[in-house]
Amino acid sequence: MAVIFDGKALCQRVKDDVKAKVAEFSAASGRKIKLAVVLVGENPASRVYVKNKIKAAEYVGIESLSFNLPETTQEAEVAELVKSLAEDDGVDAVLVQLPLPEHINEQRILDLIPPEKDVDGFSDINVGKLTLGKPCIAACTPSGIIEILKSAGITLQGKHAVIVGRSNIVGKPVALLLLRENCTVTICHSKTKNLAEICRSADILVAAVGRAGFITGDMIKEGAAVIDVGINRTENGLKGDVEFESAAKKASFITPVPGGVGPMTIAMLMKNAYICAERRNEKNGL
Ligand code: NDP
Repeated sequence: MAVIFDGKALCQRVKDDVKAKVAEFSAASGRKIKLAVVLVGENPASRVYVKNKIKAAEYVGIESLSFNLPETTQEAEVAELVKSLAEDDGVDAVLVQLPLPEHINEQRILDLIPPEKDVDGFSDINVGKLTLGKPCIAACTPSGIIEILKSAGITLQGKHAVIVGRSNIVGKPVALLLLRENCTVTICHSKTKNLAEICRSADILVAAVGRAGFITGDMIKEGAAVIDVGINRTENGLKGDVEFESAAKKASFITPVPGGVGPMTIAMLMKNAYICAERRNEKNGL
């Protein structure tokens, strides 16, 4: 039976560590770190995420500025707001909650955030640096996954990591981070052939598909570490992409949904906001 990851405990440790660093930063600089959060529209899940992010910011001592725009807001108006936050010297980090309404081009908006304020690590520049193996702000969910694996004492070097999903916000960046850790990485997607067979060859299996219970126990190698990124709202509540019962019998380590990768994403966001403020201070020679 697998060890079940305790997301809340690690998340608390990361947040407490960030809280101490934020306090040091504020004492040394005489100012608070500021995180701007832009939400466009009424997506209920996004509202919950934003609320939790603001609550976490409060806990670690980061001031948050919240901007809630109606669903019908035009791209130019969102762009103006993001540009003003980009230029505002008092703002350390800018987060645009995704998804944006369909009439807005997400990447165009994300690329208005300067790399040193790009707390989610989604801008072209941060993604490019991640690809080149340069220091960068890496996306929160993928960085949280690396933190989870390391905290569990799982050796990454030389392991075969299989990622199911190739999105820009989870699949691709987690693949790049695992490659940095010297894993041998395979990325699977909807056109992959022999998916079950490939999954069975994984020492580390990351499921980021967006389909409840998609990965079943028979797709998991005995003793593998299984990271379930999925958040699927079903009539039986929140479910991951992994069928937990059958998977836990095969894996040596597994993250639950809820209470696994989700809380870590928010903790890593706080860590990234602190890194943004630090980098800006260094850049300004402070
Ligand atoms: P996307 O919908 O952007 O990507 C899903 C990926 O899964 C795509 O690459 C798609 O392939 C692949 N896929 C879909 N069907 C299959 C299939 N039958 N076989 C193999 N691959 C398939 O999702 P995200 O990456 O944004 O999110 C994935 C999940 O993670 C969602 O449930 C989301 O809610 C959750 N999530 C959780 C977070 C957290 O903090 N815990 C943060 C972000 C996301 P293709 O590219 O070919 O279409």
